[in-house]
Amino acid sequence: MPQSKKVPFWRSLQAKFALTYIVIVAAALALLNTYPVMVSQDLAYRSKETSMTNQASILASALATGPEALTAEGAARTVELLLGSLGGARVVVTDPSGLVLCDFQWEDGGGGDAGQYIQRTDTVGQYALFWELVTALRGNIVFRSDYDDGVFRSRAAAPVTYRSMTQGAVYLYECDAEQGALLQGIQSNLRSISVVICLVTLVMGVVFSKALTRRIALLLDAIRTVREGEYSHRVSVKGGDELSRLADEFNELTGRLQTTEEVRRRFVSDASHELKTPLASIRLLTDSILQADHMDSDTAREFLTDIGDEAERLTRITEKLLTLTRLDTARTVEAAPVDVGVVVERVEHMLSPLAQAVEVTLELDLRPGCVIPATEDELYQVAFNLMENAVKYNLPGGRVFVTLRGSGSRVYLRVEDTGVGIPEEDLPKIFDRFYRVDKARSRAAGGTGLGLSIVWDTVRRYGGTVTVRRREPEGTCFEVIFPRWSEEGGDSHEK
Ligand code: ADP
Repeated sequence: MPQSKKVPFWRSLQAKFALTYIVIVAAALALLNTYPVMVSQDLAYRSKETSMTNQASILASALATGPEALTAEGAARTVELLLGSLGGARVVVTDPSGLVLCDFQWEDGGGGDAGQYIQRTDTVGQYALFWELVTALRGNIVFRSDYDDGVFRSRAAAPVTYRSMTQGAVYLYECDAEQGALLQGIQSNLRSISVVICLVTLVMGVVFSKALTRRIALLLDAIRTVREGEYSHRVSVKGGDELSRLADEFNELTGRLQTTEEVRRRFVSDASHELKTPLASIRLLTDSILQADHMDSDTAREFLTDIGDEAERLTRITEKLLTLTRLDTARTVEAAPVDVGVVVERVEHMLSPLAQAVEVTLELDLRPGCVIPATEDELYQVAFNLMENAVKYNLPGGRVFVTLRGSGSRVYLRVEDTGVGIPEEDLPKIFDRFYRVDKARSRAAGGTGLGLSIVWDTVRRYGGTVTVRRREPEGTCFEVIFPRWSEEGGDSHEK
């Protein structure tokens, strides 16, 4: 038996499952670690933009009080007045050419003291050519912010205009580590959550994929065991999911295989036994002829007739076995409309010499027009086997009634007799191959025990049913129900 190949790990379902799991989790974690941070950064940027451009605009408006040019003292005074509400790290005011008029810078107080604004003098009178200031001097309000190393560095600038005359510009600078720390906190929290999620999903992934592959391995083992011929093996896969459904289906299939295998074995052993009996008789008879020194011609003829009978029996058995094999293997029936009444009359014609010999009367009551999709030879076999049995297993003076009726989409053929009958306990087994109630009687009547199996298989193949019951007060009643011929789709049956 070829050993099934072991699947390499990288091609295994477990590896594929784990890889998919890892990719999905990695994508989810990447999203979790970037999206909320990006949104928070954007929110912080927008709030800073609003507040700082507002502050720059207010300061610019406060400085633009008249047509006179800005002076260093005037600008410093105004800025000082508004410093309390500004809150930036640096406030610079320039004249229209970019020369610094005043420059205030926030200094943190040491030792827990609050900080304060210091007015820088080193930059006064110098050009402050920051990009923001240059843009503001051209009449635009600008804002720029960078987030780096946990600190937001933001700059805003606005032109000081009086009646559309640019008198200078205001520049604000802010360095915010608080918002940055908040963002960093969010980031580090998300990282910790990600690590936990990673660990949990990893453990769950390993547990789930192991459980899944273990259950698949159970199924594979079961398939291997059954393949090696142990049809009684059953597998139990719990979980109520598709895999356990698969296991149920597998058990069902194995059960059927087991039944088929048992039927096959019994059939082969029964067939061999049935063939062995006439062969043994032939052997015995030929040995007797050969060993007899002086056998008179009458005795020899008698022996040879017996040999002929046994050979005929063998032929009958093999012919019926061939018919059964054909019924087993043929997939579809190429059926044509056949009138059951005509076929039954042919059978009656064929059986009347036998019926007369055993003093049995055949009585037919056939309704015309009972047409079914069938092949004439096979239908003849069905009617012949039933009617021949009714004659064979009858008593002298007995009667056989054959009734044919059509009703709706069905045709009913009933064969009743007043014969020896079949015991109640034998009725369920009567259609089994080689089953005979009275072996000696069957043998004497030339029976093989296969006639009713052929009837059963043929009728089932036509989509019909056959039933048997005891007839009161004596005898047996067989009833066959065929589907009636119809123009649309009545000409072929799937097996
Ligand atoms: P056989 O070739 O022995 O007749 P069948 O398959 O036709 O085989 O029938 C199986 C057995 O069923 C017979 O051996 C017989 O014992 C019983 N049987 C069949 N038909 C009848 C009947 N009409 N009356 C009584 N017994 C019957």
